[in-house]
Amino acid sequence: MNEQLKYDLEHLKTLLEAVKHQGLDYLNHLNDRPTSKKDSELEFSELREAGIGGLEALNLFNKKFENLIVGAPGPRYLGYVIGGTTPASIMGDWLATVYDQNPQTINAQGDISMLIEKETIRLLLNLFRLPDTFLGGFVTGATMSNFTCLGVARQWVGKEKGLDFAKNGLSGDIKILSAVPHSSSLKTLSMLGMGSTNFEKVKVETGNRESICMEDLLLKMEQLNGQPFILISSAGTVNTADYDDFKAISKLRKKHNFWWHIDGAFGAFAACSPKYQHLVKGWEHADSITIDCHKWLNVPYDSAVFLIKEHHNVLQMETFQNSNAPYLGNPKEDFNYLNFLPENSRRLRALPAWFSLTAYGKNGYRDIVENSVTLAKRLGEAIDKSEVFELLAPVRLNNVCFTLNGKEKNEVVGFLKRLNQAGKVYMTPTMYNNRHAIRASFVNWRTTSEDVEIIIDELQKALTND
Ligand SMILES: *Cc1c(COP(=O)(O)O)cnc(C)c1O
Repeated sequence: MNEQLKYDLEHLKTLLEAVKHQGLDYLNHLNDRPTSKKDSELEFSELREAGIGGLEALNLFNKKFENLIVGAPGPRYLGYVIGGTTPASIMGDWLATVYDQNPQTINAQGDISMLIEKETIRLLLNLFRLPDTFLGGFVTGATMSNFTCLGVARQWVGKEKGLDFAKNGLSGDIKILSAVPHSSSLKTLSMLGMGSTNFEKVKVETGNRESICMEDLLLKMEQLNGQPFILISSAGTVNTADYDDFKAISKLRKKHNFWWHIDGAFGAFAACSPKYQHLVKGWEHADSITIDCHKWLNVPYDSAVFLIKEHHNVLQMETFQNSNAPYLGNPKEDFNYLNFLPENSRRLRALPAWFSLTAYGKNGYRDIVENSVTLAKRLGEAIDKSEVFELLAPVRLNNVCFTLNGKEKNEVVGFLKRLNQAGKVYMTPTMYNNRHAIRASFVNWRTTSEDVEIIIDELQKALTND
């Protein structure tokens, strides 16, 4: 055995204690960590002939990088849709690394980690009040979940036309309808060879909405004249957290032949609260649903699930089949995750989610969701009342979309830069109704009303701090 490895093996306790100590220090001081990076020159190192061992590597990491790490899992990091990490999720995540399993199948007799993944999917279906007619699995993020779901949707379209795209490649055009698809859905259309611009844009409802206009959807569906198509709908748009009318869409299923996909990366969590459940009413009739776990579930990166109706499992196996043998076997008996999703080898990504779901239960997630929404609405009110800011859409759930009243692009960009540079709060830019805007997304379990007061204060300061 290599000397350095041997030494570290003998000192494993010291190494892991050092990491535990450092991790605790970071987490205990998260509120004070800057939320934006410092300007600093980083010089890349070359790989050494002889390593320096774990402890010295930690020292070097601390010297080079540690004080540049931002407080992304902290309470005022509101850019994109960035979740935090619950205590139990960190426990699960550390153990997932320690156990280092590769969840695939139970039949190979190699390990049982696939059962942990299956149970975690069941817990998530409970959390979202969804039926067990969905089959699910873990992938790295909502982008890969959309990829998985739309990959099966693509195979379904082929089947409806008597074609097998997975085996023979794409042919003919694939009809896709969507109103406000997330950029990642378009990326997956490109990755899946369907083309990111090859979708037909459905109008949105009038009245400052981002939800599908049902009248226009019906019109476009009728124009397709019975051709199979894919509908990409939204449970929570990124700018204004708007929802399509799932009850109305589910009624169309009887008459129209389509694969119904819902991107609920963060918006799915409305299902956790009796106050917001109505937003996803009817979504259980969808063919596939995307849900991120590293957002509102507050587990560490990277983690998301796909949920696809189990009766599509042959299509799903055809799409992701790893074996060269054309024989698909019985999907129930020969179940192996590597035939059901893009990756072959994966980490035990379910474990952090299992720990967090088990530790905090339905009530824990109801509280997290309701707290985020209350705080987003509080910030929305403050912005709406102010003369200098303009709220661009009502705060429907957890996202606040606003801009500077009557100001142009440069001033909005400059303001956001000053706001972020101060390091107490982090927000990201967006475009909404052709306006340069700013988004704040609340999904972190740590955020409190004191944080919102700090944020309101910081917004004021950034107006003048040149
Ligand atoms: C964040 C997000 C995605 C992409 O998620 P990743 O986890 O970054 O891959 C997709 N759809 C919606 C609605 C999102 O909010």
